[in-house]
Amino acid sequence: MKRYSAFAIAREAFRQHKGWGEAWTSPEPRASYDVIIVGAGGHGLATAYYLGKRFGITNVAIIEKGWLGGGNTGRNTTIIRSNYLQDPSAALYEKARSLYETLSQELNYNIMFSPRGVMMLAQTEHEKRGYLRTERANALQGVKTRFIGPAEVKRLVPIININGPRYPVLGALWQDRAGTARHDAVAWGYARACSAMGMHVIEQCAVTGVESAGGQVTAVNTTKGTIGCKKLGIVVAGHSGALADMAGFRLPVESVALQALVSEPIKPCMDVVVMANTVHGYMSQSDKGEMVIGGGADQFNNYTQRGSWHHIEETVRALVETFPMISRLKMLRQWGGIVDMTGDRSPIISKTPLGNCFINCGWGTGGFKATPGSGWAMAELIAKGEPGPLAAEFAMTRFREGRFIDESVAAGVAH
Ligand SMILES: Cc1cc2nc3c(=O)[nH]c(=O)nc-3n(C[C@H](O)[C@H](O)[C@H](O)COP(=O)(O)OP(=O)(O)OC[C@H]3O[C@@H](n4cnc5c(N)ncnc54)[C@H](O)[C@@H]3O)c2cc1C
Repeated sequence: MKRYSAFAIAREAFRQHKGWGEAWTSPEPRASYDVIIVGAGGHGLATAYYLGKRFGITNVAIIEKGWLGGGNTGRNTTIIRSNYLQDPSAALYEKARSLYETLSQELNYNIMFSPRGVMMLAQTEHEKRGYLRTERANALQGVKTRFIGPAEVKRLVPIININGPRYPVLGALWQDRAGTARHDAVAWGYARACSAMGMHVIEQCAVTGVESAGGQVTAVNTTKGTIGCKKLGIVVAGHSGALADMAGFRLPVESVALQALVSEPIKPCMDVVVMANTVHGYMSQSDKGEMVIGGGADQFNNYTQRGSWHHIEETVRALVETFPMISRLKMLRQWGGIVDMTGDRSPIISKTPLGNCFINCGWGTGGFKATPGSGWAMAELIAKGEPGPLAAEFAMTRFREGRFIDESVAAGVAH
């Protein structure tokens, strides 16, 4: 793999950029691998990357039915934060956030991590008390957050209306090292690093079945033939139920479409991320100038990766009181992704009834922020066969045992 550097850019400028190699190769599958990961979203690719980097396991294939990062990884609104309430979540999301800080340097790929700060508005007394509680929990967990008053909210976000008639801004939970990153670049950076370690990233290859014998997976059936494996990792987000079905077990997960939209590009007007859980919407400004607006999830289970008119109306209407300026913006495009929701709104990083098969899912509306931490924890689970400290509480048996990790408030609006 050629390193990207200022020197390389200068060198290529002198030879019409003819010397750049492919960022990753597109090989045909081998007959078998030590580990197969199903799903080349950010989480699947990060899992493969840390398998190689931390455990030296590189005979790995990452199998993707579409194109790399074309699932939720390339459809999310890129918010990264770690101000969750429960200890296991705070540990996992803060590990991910801290890995994001240096991920560009580590992967030698600019993922455009922008720790611009994320604020979650308190617009009711109930919400304010909830965020004060989270602030204190975060202090005990070592996650740096602070509850700020309306005047500081206004100072940080001049375009906000803090005196709305229905939902005045009473303050906000502020995390100054939270922010955003370029979502596709996260997938591309991990894919390039995996490919450089000799792993196979196989796109346009759907897994259609899972073969097992004696309680162990032996192979997966794919649209490019049957491929053997010693271990299988299922990391397919909204399609987890379908893959679990192929492997012969059930998951406590529901799949729904989650939507987002962007406006026409405008001059820089907001340099932090604002989430308004009470009115149900959130907004940031992209580097291109578009206002990136997150909406809600469909109220019924489905696999349709699309937007819908009523979501635009509901989301924009909700935000207009707090951001009057968006009432005059044209909306440019909308889209949807299929997210996998658990009952306690926390993920699953778990062993399965098949001895050598592991699953990572249930990130619902908020898994982009967790990508590096999730891959870190899943790689450890696959390599050792047992969860490490980050994944230990996220086994799917918690639903049978009643040990929920309730993040319904932290995961509130969408993230
Ligand atoms: C509109 C929207 C906004 C969001 N905003 C945020 C946000 O701001 N912050 C945040 O933290 N999170 C956000 N999320 C959630 C986040 O995008 C996801 O939790 C995260 O990207 C999941 O990553 P993943 O790698 O697990 O899944 P994906 O990126 O979906 O990857 C799974 C891959 O598996 C592949 N696959 C499925 N079935 C098969 C098969 N049979 N064979 C082979 N491959 C298969 C899919 O094609 C897909 O590429 C948002 C999601 C949406 C939809």
